[in-house]
Amino acid sequence: QSAALLARRRKSFAKPQKNYYADPPQIERGWKEHMFDVTGRSYLDMVNNVTILGHGHPKLARAAGRQWSLLNTNSRFHYAAVAEFSDRLASLAPEGLDTVFLVNSGSEAVDLALRLAWARSGARNIVSLLEAYHGWTVASDAVSTSIADNPRALETRPGWVHPVTAPNTYRGPFRGPASTADYVASVAKALDEIEQAGEGLAGFICESVYGNAGGIPLPPGYLAEVYGMVRARGGVCIADEVQVGYGRLGHHFWGFDQQGVVPDIITIAKGMGNGQPLGAVITSREIADALENEGYFFSSAGGSPVSCVVGMTVLDIMRDEALQENARDTGDYLKSRLEALGQRFPLVGAVHGMGLYLGLEFVRDRETLEPATEETAGICDRLLDLGVIMQPTGDHLNVLKIKPPLCLSRESADFFAEMLEKVLADGW
Ligand code: PMP
Repeated sequence: QSAALLARRRKSFAKPQKNYYADPPQIERGWKEHMFDVTGRSYLDMVNNVTILGHGHPKLARAAGRQWSLLNTNSRFHYAAVAEFSDRLASLAPEGLDTVFLVNSGSEAVDLALRLAWARSGARNIVSLLEAYHGWTVASDAVSTSIADNPRALETRPGWVHPVTAPNTYRGPFRGPASTADYVASVAKALDEIEQAGEGLAGFICESVYGNAGGIPLPPGYLAEVYGMVRARGGVCIADEVQVGYGRLGHHFWGFDQQGVVPDIITIAKGMGNGQPLGAVITSREIADALENEGYFFSSAGGSPVSCVVGMTVLDIMRDEALQENARDTGDYLKSRLEALGQRFPLVGAVHGMGLYLGLEFVRDRETLEPATEETAGICDRLLDLGVIMQPTGDHLNVLKIKPPLCLSRESADFFAEMLEKVLADGW
């Protein structure tokens, strides 16, 4: 039955919307950090960075169902939930970022952030990091330069996108925490080139933790320097917090907190709806109003009553179940267990990240850092056999993307570490 269904999927569902596994289990339901296939077999979901509360949360299902049966419409109408949710999101952001747009996804949030930067500056040029991923819509795709997601990303990028060296302190051209000035210089060069071409700067976009490569912290002081230079040239600073923000880092609610800076525009999505399509842009009133000159902004489902109630319930549950604190404690614990594996197995090059945003990088040689790409794929396949869902990330696909629901229990963290240890010891 499962194979027949997979054949139907392959016949009628678009091929580029891929499954990670060649022979995937047919998943039927989820509970907390676990998923169950049609035979009842359970899998530990260590990858799903959207369902931050965990799967199947009954409180969320009840709140969404109640709102569905009461009313669902769009933000052209006046209803309580849109005011309450916007207010709540603004109160989570740093002072001055008090205005919220509600959309449906991370890509839409990034597109809107770019439009705001264009409207505010009157210029078109955007500086973004190499090897970044910001979404699939036309503009968010243009600032995405990750060749793992799109091998032709660099050839096809439009002229207004100016990629700069990714500040990867592990395997970039400059290593270690003392590399800040070298990476900042790459941004300064791009800004000079834009100026020498007689053009203006619209803005700078990056994730506040280097996400695509598995959550490597930016070098100390990097964002403070870059934000200063960008603002001095009239640009705005966009923090793409779609993946790193909203509590996943455990020690901080926002990724940019780690760098002690405040951006001009924040984009969020993924976890804020726990799977319900939900995205937002948070910015200042002044930047938000820049779009007024272009007319009005409307999203048919962005800010719908159901979306807003879901968004508020997610925040309530995060608070009541102390999920950010759990991300910090269980994340630190898991990181120390993974680092211990690094003592035993030379294939483990490094464990990046913090909270429940971790990346375990496999290398063939700790000196040359040659990426262990095939090994990583084999390890992920073997982990599936052992009941763990895991996938690779990074431009070399040699990093385990460890982004489980924030409710991950200590027992599940132990199970993951033990299964990984078994695969590394027994082979794949
Ligand atoms: N920005 C970042 C940093 C992301 O990781 C993603 C999704 N992986 C997006 C934007 C796009 O979000 P969505 O898939 O909701 O459009």
